[in-house]
Amino acid sequence: MKNNVSPMEIKGVLNKLTIADLDIKGKRLFIRADFNVPLDDDLNITDDRRIRSTLPTINYAIDEGAKVILSSHLGRPKGKVNPRYSLAPIAKRLQRLLKKEVTFLPDCIGQQVEKAVKEMKDGDVALLENLRFHIEEETNDEGFSRALSGLADYYINDAFGASHRVHASIVGITKFLPSAAGFLLKKEIEYLQGVVNSPVRPFVALLGGAKVSGKIGVLGNLESKVDKVIIGGGMAYTFLKASGYSVGDSLVEDEMLDSVNNIRERIISKGIKFYLPVDCVIAQSIEPGAESKIVPVQEIPNGWKALDIGPASVRLFIEALSNAKTILWNGPMGVFEIDAFSRGTFAIAHAIADAYALTIVGGGDTDLAVTRAGVSPESISFISTGGGASLQLLEGKELPGIAALTDKRLKD
Ligand code: AMP
Repeated sequence: MKNNVSPMEIKGVLNKLTIADLDIKGKRLFIRADFNVPLDDDLNITDDRRIRSTLPTINYAIDEGAKVILSSHLGRPKGKVNPRYSLAPIAKRLQRLLKKEVTFLPDCIGQQVEKAVKEMKDGDVALLENLRFHIEEETNDEGFSRALSGLADYYINDAFGASHRVHASIVGITKFLPSAAGFLLKKEIEYLQGVVNSPVRPFVALLGGAKVSGKIGVLGNLESKVDKVIIGGGMAYTFLKASGYSVGDSLVEDEMLDSVNNIRERIISKGIKFYLPVDCVIAQSIEPGAESKIVPVQEIPNGWKALDIGPASVRLFIEALSNAKTILWNGPMGVFEIDAFSRGTFAIAHAIADAYALTIVGGGDTDLAVTRAGVSPESISFISTGGGASLQLLEGKELPGIAALTDKRLKD
């Protein structure tokens, strides 16, 4: 949490049970986490933020004397056992982070697992093997869901990044157990739904990334909530082309031209300020070392692609952000993976980190951009751990994994 800004009154939007509502002492908790972390070729974890983000829930369960059964998917093993996607490295890392023994079980269902769970004592922690080694996980199979539920007394969902999936460990299992949100899930909802629905104003949304088609739903939901919209990244060039500019070989989704014009007109007609890049960094190919130059957006030659916002756009966008009290950022301003096209994204990341505002960064590539920019995650109020899930929430949609949890009032 940013030190200089209080999280204001984040509205309690979650009308579902949370782990804090349950009496978990001595109970077996099936905690579905999202330990789907990046691994290098030698199976070393290259970024453990998703594991760390679930620690408050795990530590709480341990401290309360529950028997903690952790589960997750990793990668896409497609229903087959594959050592490449084993959760063994996660067990090791968890052990280090928790400073506590974590028993790693060789499967997520079956007699051996049941026996090991029976032998657990209060406060013990076990990690099940990759749920997706069973195809039934992704098909939301009822028998598999029941088998998972048989291991526990309560189900806790702390896997925000997987909560848009109708999978057995996310949805199916909730049919068989009282089901509650973990602290990470709760926090994600409070920020991505609570803050976005009742922001302290001015509220500025900054959207970027590759394709406008992936973000138009977010824009549609935000258009009734924001004071300013800033568009960067590849998606800006569909807007610019729709406004009559020739954008050379920049990324354009021609089938979206009418939609982006409509949404832009609607946004402007509501008195919301709407910003597009005024200049850009162009090159003929998306490669390190390609010749690049900075031009106004009106002057992108044929054969050249706009791959980053230019310095005038950076200034314009930072100025537009300067009076914001709430900032939502989703999607890089350019191809930040390549040095020559990273400066716009990095400048914006620093500006957001320095802003005197509640700042929310959407998941996926944007959190990577923050890290690559050398910005400390602590200087951002909240960085989402979910890519697809965060987009779905920002589109104003309900996530199946959250809808499936037990309603708070049913318990009272
Ligand atoms: P998204 O997943 O939609 O947020 O897109 C992220 C990707 O968009 C990143 O990998 C960037 O390299 C890419 N991107 C950002 N700006 C551009 C651009 N101007 N042209 C092509 N790709 C871009």
